[in-house]
Amino acid sequence: MLDEKKSRDLVLILLELEQGEVTPGSRSLARTARELSRQGGLEVRGVLPLGAWALPSLESLAGLDLSKIYAFASSGRPTSGQTARQLIAAVELARPSVVLVGATELGREVAPLAAAHFQTGLTADCTGLRLEGDLLVQTRPAFSGEMLAEIVTPLARPQMATVRAAPEPPETRRQERLPRVEFLRYREPERDLTVLRRTPLGDAGDLVRAPVVVAAGLGLGGPAGVASAAWLAEKLGAALGGTRAVVDRGWLPADKQIGLSGLSVSPRLLVALGVSGSVQFMAGAAGAGTIVAVNSDPRAPILALAQFGLVMELENLWPEFEDIFNTLELNGPRRQANKSRASRPAAPRAPETGPAPQETPRDARTEAREEKRAEDAGRGDRKERKTGKTR
Ligand SMILES: Cc1cc2nc3c(=O)[nH]c(=O)nc-3n(C[C@H](O)[C@H](O)[C@H](O)COP(=O)(O)OP(=O)(O)OC[C@H]3O[C@@H](n4cnc5c(N)ncnc54)[C@H](O)[C@@H]3O)c2cc1C
Repeated sequence: MLDEKKSRDLVLILLELEQGEVTPGSRSLARTARELSRQGGLEVRGVLPLGAWALPSLESLAGLDLSKIYAFASSGRPTSGQTARQLIAAVELARPSVVLVGATELGREVAPLAAAHFQTGLTADCTGLRLEGDLLVQTRPAFSGEMLAEIVTPLARPQMATVRAAPEPPETRRQERLPRVEFLRYREPERDLTVLRRTPLGDAGDLVRAPVVVAAGLGLGGPAGVASAAWLAEKLGAALGGTRAVVDRGWLPADKQIGLSGLSVSPRLLVALGVSGSVQFMAGAAGAGTIVAVNSDPRAPILALAQFGLVMELENLWPEFEDIFNTLELNGPRRQANKSRASRPAAPRAPETGPAPQETPRDARTEAREEKRAEDAGRGDRKERKTGKTR
């Protein structure tokens, strides 16, 4: 741990390079650090693991508006262990009161190694920072994103945080100055992080990339309901995923879970069946283009998020889809484009050529259902309601 009295009014930021140039994430980190500097009069310096690259362009270094950069050369792209050693070396030399690292893949490996070395606190994934006197107030989402926590490190130094990148603001007149660059040596780590095993994403990868996803929720009622959802997914050429509640019950394997503690999907179309739309589920589905939700409860949160909401019992959905797909298959590919737009197909029509269709058990079932619906409608207890809205 650095002695608080000996730490200096200094923010040290870890810079990252891509193709030899400073990454947008590092430019964002520099803006955050400069904002702290404006609040508390702190000097801002950078740590630059160069690897085998030459220094980035002077223009991009000047744009960071840092007073000094500690640069480290090494053969090849530095590992996270080497980068941590370089950061530690710079901290020991400069003794900053604040160290900021990007919440990137590299930053998330390097920052804990350095924080453990100095036995100081580390706040991960900060979305906001401000100074109250000497204290760095670190804001980050907590409790699955439902609250914002403010965290301070009152005793140990340096105060360390990984920071999420913010979008680059439109071009404004910036303060630019060329930093002094000091090349430093560092001690190679005795042990580095080692990749023990790589697991290919497999099916999960398909779900992440699928343009159409069917999401199974608890409202499906059990494995048989999930099997119906799988049938629908197959008919639509979609990938099947589900909520944690479904996975917890063993109705789907864990690698099909969508959400905060599962996969993030971003299909063009998400069909959510019996899914309530919890904050945690939506954390993994926020990237979906159009959401079609089927839920029996008109107050279910997913219906407020979906562009198309069907308030109905799922049990009534399967026969409707069976009718649609049977009709599509009966009418052949030429008519599919028109028929697939129909929300409720009429009884199967005769194909334009070929023999007239015989009555099949399916047709009999369809009629029986329609009779029952007519009776229900007469009693005024029909539960289905379809809503459609646009964003
Ligand atoms: C730290 C943490 C992390 C979490 N991570 C995740 C995560 O990654 N992914 C995730 O999904 N959850 C996650 N959860 C759990 C999350 O809070 C919800 O419990 C879960 O998403 C609910 O799943 P569900 O929508 O299937 O079930 P429910 O919330 O029980 O919803 C079932 C829905 O089905 C409807 N329904 C019932 N019967 C019918 C019917 N016959 N026909 C039509 N609709 C019907 C109901 O109206 C209801 O809206 C997490 C929770 C915590 C605390």
